[in-house]
Formats: sequence, structure tokens, C-alpha cells
Amino acid sequence: KTGMESELAISKDRKYLWHHISPYSEANPPMIAASASGSWVTDIDGKKYLDGMSGLWCVNVGYGRKELAEAAYNQLLSLPYFPLTQSHMPAILLAEKLNEWLGDEYVIFFSNSGSEANEAAFKMVRQYHQQTGQHYRHKFIARYRGYHGNSFGALSATGQAQRKYKYEPLSGGFLHVAPPDSYRRPAGQSVEEFNLLMAQQIEDTIVWEGAETVGAVIMEPVITGGGVIVPHQVYMDRVQEICKKHGVLLIIDEVICGFGRSGRKFGHHNFGVKPDIVTMAKGLTSAYLPLSATAVRKEIYEVFKDNSDDYGYFRHINTFGGNPAACALGLRNLEIMEQENLVERGDLLGQRLSAGLSGLLGHKLVGDVRSFGLITGVELVADKTTKEPAPLDTVKGIIADCKAKGLIIGKNGDTVAGYNNVLTFAPPLASTDEDIQFILDTFTEVLNGNW
Ligand code: PLP
Repeated sequence: KTGMESELAISKDRKYLWHHISPYSEANPPMIAASASGSWVTDIDGKKYLDGMSGLWCVNVGYGRKELAEAAYNQLLSLPYFPLTQSHMPAILLAEKLNEWLGDEYVIFFSNSGSEANEAAFKMVRQYHQQTGQHYRHKFIARYRGYHGNSFGALSATGQAQRKYKYEPLSGGFLHVAPPDSYRRPAGQSVEEFNLLMAQQIEDTIVWEGAETVGAVIMEPVITGGGVIVPHQVYMDRVQEICKKHGVLLIIDEVICGFGRSGRKFGHHNFGVKPDIVTMAKGLTSAYLPLSATAVRKEIYEVFKDNSDDYGYFRHINTFGGNPAACALGLRNLEIMEQENLVERGDLLGQRLSAGLSGLLGHKLVGDVRSFGLITGVELVADKTTKEPAPLDTVKGIIADCKAKGLIIGKNGDTVAGYNNVLTFAPPLASTDEDIQFILDTFTEVLNGNW
């Protein structure tokens, strides 16, 4: 490919395309991807990059899977579309497979994105409580630093101020508590004690608000995009106990943690939690096509079968949600994960990546390394004693240096609270041993060589 082609492409990009959550920059043209295979993406100039973030934490089986393209192609030829106001086989089969993966009885509502999956969950929670005579239970409790999506409800549940700034006021009824950020716990407190105190914030909020006004708690098993904040087991046990005690439903957002990313099938499996509602997207199709799901416990769904008034059923429609080709592809995606043992593979690679990155804890900038399955966060600090976050320029400089050497890594979402100092690593579950070594070698070289 000639340099002229990419110049022209960039000028057209600048003229016609509005990028997602990225400031306009003359100095830094976007990378224009042209093709990909395995864990590697090639840009239009032919330069190759190891995608250490699986896109946006989503290409779990890796790029270039012909079987996925074929599953979608065949389905598009036989039945490209039919609304889920009625039914079709790919949706039925995928819903059945998701029950197998969840390991419990759930009824599945399909949408197209993680945000939509969470929106559906919020509406289900409110309607469920209405129809069980708990008319005041409309509030949701989420955590600061958590991300749940871009739409008004999902953004309201999000606890990252920078993402909300200038779009407020959003939806009412969403409350936030601090996450169990054990790295920044007060001196003298054990991780366990600190986690119990953080869980207690949820109970305190429920009690202060009036338990009869709280509908659900929503959380990711591990806060991912907000900085890889991994709770202690006691936190998750206690959250579950608190929800049960106060009649509050528990929504677990598995949009990133699901489908092997956590080293198990779902992130809540790592903690033995039994959620009332599970939301999922990304790895469901490894992002080859848009698809998301809201899985709801059978007992909750039963309440929506009541046809005694005209409004007893869930009056929520989604034209594209559960598209047959997306479902057929999703089913094939899960079959590939089973055939290739990618959940176990992700767990193994996660341990290697985590061990390798932990080897950098001696570097002056590396304050903490936290992992959950095949997700690792490296928290950069300016001062290891005060834990003052490293400046944003340093974080961005390291990411740029990695990219120049052919490695794409990510960072946590900016917050006006100043926590934008966690580098994130989440390569495809099907990465090779050499891919993981390339990530470790390249990152180590950048950190030790330039910083
Ligand atoms: N929930 C979590 C945990 C996410 O990370 C995301 C997206 O990154 C979403 C929800 C929203 O998903 P989507 O971007 O598909 O709407």
C-alpha cells in the first residue's frame, strides 16, 4: 500500500467520520484498520499491531474466524430477519446455550449492545416490583468508577463523572457508592476489613434511602474499564447477603467479564454469586456482529406472564435485537470456545500475563498490578508512598510508545476525579504463547527503556 492511499483515507476520515469518545486531533491521525487475524490487526499501510485489548475487550475468540462468517452468511441466506415479537430457531438455540453457560435457569431477552441490555434490565426491575406490589422500589445503586453504557439510564448507572459531564441531568433514581479499591484502602486496614466496609456502604445507602424504595444493585463482578478493581470474596458474599436481606435485586453486568474473560464462563462464577439478572454483550459474538442479552431468573420472568391487566407483559421492543444472523454467529462463537477450551486457555494466559506484568512492580511508576482472568490493570503512580496517580501525559506517552512498537494497550476511563492512570491489558483468549510473550517483552522494553 502507498503512503498516498492512507493520506487520502485520513483526509476522508476527518471530513466524514465522527469518532467514538476520542478528541479531535490534527497531530494524531487515527489508525485505520484494514484486516486482522488471530490477535493481530493490520492497518492500511500494512503495519501490524498486537491487539492487547481485543478491540474493546470483546474479540474473545480472536480475529479471522471463517466459521463465524459462514454461520452468519448461511443464516442471512435462509432467514436474514424476523422480529422477536415472535420467534426463530437461532434465538431459541442461543438462549438454550446461554442457560448452559450460566449454569442456572434464566430467560433471555436479546438486544444489540451492552447499554441496551442494561436499559432492559432497569425497566424489568421497575416493572417486576410494580407487579409484585412493591410500588416504591424504583431506585438503583451502582458504584463510582463502574461503566454501564452510553444511553440515559445506563449512563446514569455509570460512576465515571467525565462520561456524564455536560450531558446531565440524566435519569433520576441512580445512586452511587465507592468501589472496593483495595490498593487505596486506609493504612492499617486489612483488605478483608476494607472490603466489608465498602460493602457496608451499599447496605447503609439502602437503609438511608428506605429499603422499600430500592429496586436493584447493579455491578460488574470486577470494575474493568474503570481501572480493574477486583473485590475480595467477602465483598461479593456480603453484597449478595445485603440484597437478599432487603429484597433488592442484584444485576451483574457481565458485558466485559463474561464469556471466558474472567477465567470462568462468567465473572460471577468466580465468586459463586447468584445474580437475579445478568447482562452481557461483547464476547457473546466476539463482536463479529452486534448482539447483547439480558438474562432474567425464571421466577422473575413468571411475574411478566400475568395477563390479568393489559400492562403485565414487558412492553419493550427492539427491531434488531436478536437478529438471526447475530444469534447464529453467537452460537457458533460459544461452540468454538467450548471446542478449543478457550475459557481454560484464557485463565492460563491470564496467569502468565499477570505474573509477567507483576515482575514490573519494581519499576518506579508501577504502583499496583491487578488481574482477573485475562484482564490485567497496571496502576501507574507518580509516588509509591502517597500513591499519587501518574500524570495523564505519562500514561498516554507509554500507550503511544507501545503502539509505535506494534502493541495496542488500553487505559481506564478518564474521570474528573483524576483516576486515569491504569493501563489495561485484555488480549484475545485464543492468543498464542508468543503473543503473550510479545506483550510482556514490548511493554517491559517501553517501560524500562523510555520511562
Ligand atoms: N457494561 C460494561 C461493563 C461495559 O464495559 C460496556 C461497554 O464498554 C457497556 C456496559 C456498554 O456496552 P455497549 O458499548 O455495547 O453499549
